[in-house]
Amino acid sequence: MTERIFNFSAGPAVLPEPVLKQAQRDLFALPEVGMSVLEVSHRSAAFEQIIKEAETDLRILLNIPEDYAVLFLQGGASLQFSMVPMNLLPKGKSADYILTGSWGQGAFKEAKKLGTVREACSTADTNFNRLPKPEELKLDPHAAYVHFTSNETIFGVEFQEEPPAGNVPLVCDMSSNFVSKPLDVSKYGLIYAGAQKNAGPAGATIVIIRKDLLEGVPEGLPAMLDYKNLSKSDSMYNTPPCFAIYICGLVFKWAINEVGGLEKIQALNREKAKILYSAIDSSDGYYRGHAEKDCRSLMNVTFRLPNEDLEKKFVKEATAAGLDGLKGHRSVGGLRASIYNAFPKAGVVKLVEFMGEFQKKNG
Ligand SMILES: *Cc1c(COP(=O)(O)O)cnc(C)c1O
Repeated sequence: MTERIFNFSAGPAVLPEPVLKQAQRDLFALPEVGMSVLEVSHRSAAFEQIIKEAETDLRILLNIPEDYAVLFLQGGASLQFSMVPMNLLPKGKSADYILTGSWGQGAFKEAKKLGTVREACSTADTNFNRLPKPEELKLDPHAAYVHFTSNETIFGVEFQEEPPAGNVPLVCDMSSNFVSKPLDVSKYGLIYAGAQKNAGPAGATIVIIRKDLLEGVPEGLPAMLDYKNLSKSDSMYNTPPCFAIYICGLVFKWAINEVGGLEKIQALNREKAKILYSAIDSSDGYYRGHAEKDCRSLMNVTFRLPNEDLEKKFVKEATAAGLDGLKGHRSVGGLRASIYNAFPKAGVVKLVEFMGEFQKKNG
């Protein structure tokens, strides 16, 4: 087997090694099935078990209450930007959007095309380096829902607590910190996440929706965009992304059985992030974090160097040293280290060592 490098990509991102190994082992023929998961019918008993188990394990992992439906969809988190208002924003009502980064802005822009939406708050004025205080939120108590992005992948800011939405259903784009810490699902109306950050490979999108909200879905939506229809058919209205769902299922099993659940996962994520943020904070200003300290993401660590030439040099030399995917998004610049659940602590330690040496040579 070829050597693996440390993959700091923001997504698609690193997967747990035991998952990759099991998928590789079973790719040619699933045990007891004799066919690859790539070949089986989605209507077969074999696949039915795979999707059922993936749902059951996700329910165990997140402790999802019975009155929530779990859907495995396609189209990425980006399609949810449209499906959420199509399904949950009736005519005559408006929805509130809390804008803390590019993904929230993207969701807002798409929703605007489909209904009445309000900006409840935006932190654009400081290039999304912070989260709003509860008193900054201009929330409408009659809104159809409040949308927020729990972790803004590009800027590296992560909500520690849900915004206070009162009785209005909370809708959350949880793509980049899904299953990274314990969660009280009952606080939400709807949660969605593209799988390719923390839950699996690209191709599957997970939606968790409180069942009473399905009742309000308007008639006449295109079948493929209708939560009620998709839920009624248990995510099998058409051919689902079978392989992606299979890998998500393996990731959930890994999270439960090998890591030991979300509390353990959170502790590991905190430990990894602390190592990296401490290195940034103890560099005498050579490395500067983008996000304000109390808003920092445990998943995406964004930071700058003294100038852009040094940032380019850093990325180039880090890549050569086996630390891949560190170039920041152009809207922040600098560096971004994405250290999702499956990212090993050894990779963070190696990055911190590299940072120390780079500063010594280029400080
Ligand atoms: C990656 C990401 C998206 C986009 O996901 P796609 O699956 O590519 O559509 C949306 N929101 C957040 C927070 C993300 O991290």
